[in-house]
Amino acid sequence: MRKASYFIAALVVGGVVAVAAQERIDQDVFWKIRQEGTNNSKILSTLHMLTDVYGPRLTGSPNLKAAGEWAIEQMHTWGLKGGRLEPWDFARSGWTNERLAAHIVSPVKDALVAEALAWTPGTNGIVRAQAVQLTLPQRPTRDVLTTHLEALKDVVKEKFVLVGVPQTVLVTFNAPALRREDADVVTQLNAAPAGPPQQNQQPQAQSPQEQTPAEPRPLTNNQIQEQLNQFLLANGAVVRINDAGRDHGQIRAFNNAAYDVAKAPPTVVMRNEDYGRIWRLLTDKRSVELEFDIVNRTHPEGRTSYNVIAEIPGSDKADEVVMLGGHLDSWHAGTGATDNAIGCAVMMEAARILVATGVQPRRTIRVALWSGEEQGLLGSQAYVKEHFGTAEDPKPAHEKFAGYFNIDNGTGRTRGMTVFGPPAAGAILRAALEPFKDLGVLGATTTRSRQRGGTDHTSFNEAGLPGIGMLQDPIQYASHSWHTNLDTYERIVEDDVKKSAIAIAAAVYHLAMRDERLPRFSKEEMPRRPQSQQPQTPPAAAPAQPPQTPSTTATGAASR
Ligand SMILES: [Zn+2]
Repeated sequence: MRKASYFIAALVVGGVVAVAAQERIDQDVFWKIRQEGTNNSKILSTLHMLTDVYGPRLTGSPNLKAAGEWAIEQMHTWGLKGGRLEPWDFARSGWTNERLAAHIVSPVKDALVAEALAWTPGTNGIVRAQAVQLTLPQRPTRDVLTTHLEALKDVVKEKFVLVGVPQTVLVTFNAPALRREDADVVTQLNAAPAGPPQQNQQPQAQSPQEQTPAEPRPLTNNQIQEQLNQFLLANGAVVRINDAGRDHGQIRAFNNAAYDVAKAPPTVVMRNEDYGRIWRLLTDKRSVELEFDIVNRTHPEGRTSYNVIAEIPGSDKADEVVMLGGHLDSWHAGTGATDNAIGCAVMMEAARILVATGVQPRRTIRVALWSGEEQGLLGSQAYVKEHFGTAEDPKPAHEKFAGYFNIDNGTGRTRGMTVFGPPAAGAILRAALEPFKDLGVLGATTTRSRQRGGTDHTSFNEAGLPGIGMLQDPIQYASHSWHTNLDTYERIVEDDVKKSAIAIAAAVYHLAMRDERLPRFSKEEMPRRPQSQQPQTPPAAAPAQPPQTPSTTATGAASR
């Protein structure tokens, strides 16, 4: 027989003591969760499969679907039920890079380091040609850019075209901290909630003058890239080369904004060191010859993408749901370890721990591994829309929802959580996390923001549902692995991710067991959706940003 022991969570955070004092914590189960997560962790074997075997996992690619199928199998083996792929309409073919060989063959011979830009074509075999420099005017209008490019038609014909002066990447004298100071985390957890003020204010209407911008306007970056790509295609450029603009060989390669291989030349993002060398040789007026072989494929079946779902069935409150998850899709330059195979491995592990400890949750616990996150939270947006609707236009399941935990900030240990909801929701999470202070988990706070962005829990927040995001130690996420070719298995800190899984498993269990669902904003209290998200805007093309976004200059990506 399991002996349930309870304790009264004593909290010192102001204003919420009354709620927290009534919170009953099952210390017996929490101890078992800790033991299971510490002694029998499967996180690294899950991570190995998702990265080494199935990485990278670009949305729409066969690898991503295979990773999802494997995750379902694995979760079934652990005892989860009802595993399934839930389709949603990505509306673009999938894309993969199978081979990229890049060399300088004259005036020196050497291998070059580059990554293909996603949704661009390959070279149809080995191509050898001269390299040329191309620079663009600052903030051009369409006419200015057209005139500028018109003069370069003969320059780019049958050439490798290096686009833009190389970035000068300065030495970092003050390296960012790998861990957050406790005091800094506590200050953030005690700060006033982000989001619109308590009083719902109607946004002011724009005056007619503000709505009609003066012409001609400078082109947006996407418009510049689109016009440049059309020009390079029309005038027979062999390969477009972008500068990665980062130090130590880091490359971030995203996608061409059109998501269409017919609308861009073969394009690579080259490490700053190689790009700079070629540029300097050309500046010397030396003739530079390059040789590339790029094999890319498109996958029409990728127009349908999938979210991975599996459950621990509930008992007396089985129609109420607590969810946990992260996105399974990745960018393609690395194997997507810190972004976000590790998040999936942690959430799968949290569910595994709960099954292994033999608990019988009252509410259904549902794991979700999303796709399309990197293209604008598309998978979670589709899921929330289909299953829950919004606070303003809810489906029946909206009412029964009891929280969604999301993790997506690399390998760093969970230091706290942020829930979309009233202060009482934050107090309940704080009480559930209190026993894990020794692991560095320092509490929870709330947000009032329904702004979509960052990562998938904001799809829930936007719908007025209690999304729960993790505050994590930075380790080397923003500085090294986020969206780069260095995002691999080796970057995972095992001790950190084991501790995250333990704390999350306990918090999920607590929300699945308490008598009442996690408190939510009443209809009257519900913060309004940001104006820009009413009604639903079309999918964004730009990738989501991490919380501590590093310098965003010169990612080398057409879409940035
Ligand atoms: Zn991510």
